[in-house]
Amino acid sequence: MVNVGVMGTGYVGLVHGAVLSSYGFRVTCMDVDKQKIERLNQGISPIYEPGLEELLQSGLRAGNLVFTASAQQVVQTSDVLFIAVGTPAKEDGSADLSYVWDVVQQIGKHINGHKVIVSKSTMPVGTSRSIAMYLDGMLRGTPYRAHVASNPEFLRQGKAVSDSLSPSRVVIGAESDEAVQMLKKVYATHLEQDVPFLFTNRETAEMIKYASNSFLAVKISFINELALLSEKVGAKIQDIATGMGMDDRISPHFLQAGPGYGGSCFPKDTQAIVDVGRKNGEELYVVRAAIAANEKQKAKMVSKIEETLSFDGTLKGRTVAVWGLTFKPDTDDIRYSPSYEIIQGLLGRGAAVKVYCPQGMKQAKLYWTDLNGRIQYCGSEAECSQQADAIVLMTEWEQFRAANWEKIARGMRGNAFFDMRNMFAGDASVLQWFKYYPVGASEYG
Ligand code: NAD
Repeated sequence: MVNVGVMGTGYVGLVHGAVLSSYGFRVTCMDVDKQKIERLNQGISPIYEPGLEELLQSGLRAGNLVFTASAQQVVQTSDVLFIAVGTPAKEDGSADLSYVWDVVQQIGKHINGHKVIVSKSTMPVGTSRSIAMYLDGMLRGTPYRAHVASNPEFLRQGKAVSDSLSPSRVVIGAESDEAVQMLKKVYATHLEQDVPFLFTNRETAEMIKYASNSFLAVKISFINELALLSEKVGAKIQDIATGMGMDDRISPHFLQAGPGYGGSCFPKDTQAIVDVGRKNGEELYVVRAAIAANEKQKAKMVSKIEETLSFDGTLKGRTVAVWGLTFKPDTDDIRYSPSYEIIQGLLGRGAAVKVYCPQGMKQAKLYWTDLNGRIQYCGSEAECSQQADAIVLMTEWEQFRAANWEKIARGMRGNAFFDMRNMFAGDASVLQWFKYYPVGASEYG
């Protein structure tokens, strides 16, 4: 049986480790965050992801899921080591690989046999090769070898467990038979399930990840720009998206207009690929335009609220209820969520802001410290809307569908409803009580 090690227990590493343990592998997960490891050992998931805590607890009970803060332990007990640490953006947009190199150094220091090292982290093209060269150098004169592969992760937050159990594809960039054979063992269940596999070289695997995320960002920015135009010319973006999506060369996915993309991946990965392009003498104009359009989209959403609600060109005296802080539903992740910039924009124009989010408030209080004391956190969407002039729905949490619209509307001072996700477009019960402002249409009747 293969012993699996995972370094980094965030959204990717923890889900990956828990899923592999459910296939019967003995999995050791390591993180430098000792508090996280303590909680994980008690069966408490540090992140919200549907189905994760159950998987974690059954792995712990079965004894084949182990959490440790010791790099030595994870390196020495594993045949294959997955790197799943963060690769955030630096100020200049390039990927910060310091966590990756910390892990690689630990591997080099503690290695005690032949190992397959696999990057799940999103790393700029060429990084896996640099890691291989570095480890080869460290292992010179020893009998050990490190086989380095790139195996980018495509899970979606909010659906991370189900995506890991049934991935859209498995991409393996490897240049040694040992690495390929090891990964075939690790993914034996997916091979049996006929999940599509792509075997290629490391550079291509690394690029596939950035290409996929950049393409999705381009698609979102494209539909968002058309949404802005639609509002001006009397067209309806949802019908446009439906009409476009009927062409299977286009597909209906990722054509939902909104307040701009966010999250821990698209903003940083688009910037990183532009940076890689520049360093290699190729300007990536299309991706750059998607980034610029995304910034414009967020600013336009604030202007729209301002134009509708303003007294004397400001929002002084207005109270806005923001529903949803996470960048998408079913996650507690608020990293680069457009909600942050919309809230900043509203505060900057003098509005009082109340917020409610089913899962994001804990992290918001922790990480959006500049907002503490400037916004009011509420216990429900109804409480958030009390005495507000407007609701701004930022994240399409399913629970919002069960809202008691009459009660909410009666408790408000105004009746504007800005639906940044078009979640209630055409919903008669909402239209009955509110002046409804969707994205990408002047009205939805
Ligand atoms: P995360 O920030 O949630 O988790 C990273 C973890 O690594 C943290 O728990 C941190 O404490 C730990 N860590 C940092 N340094 C370490 C070290 N030296 N040794 C051990 N652990 C260390 O990150 P994430 O969202 O899981 O993303 C990880 C990578 O996967 C990134 O490159 C990201 O781009 C990529 N990715 C993320 C997603 C996603 O949806 N979040 C999807 C696909 C790919």
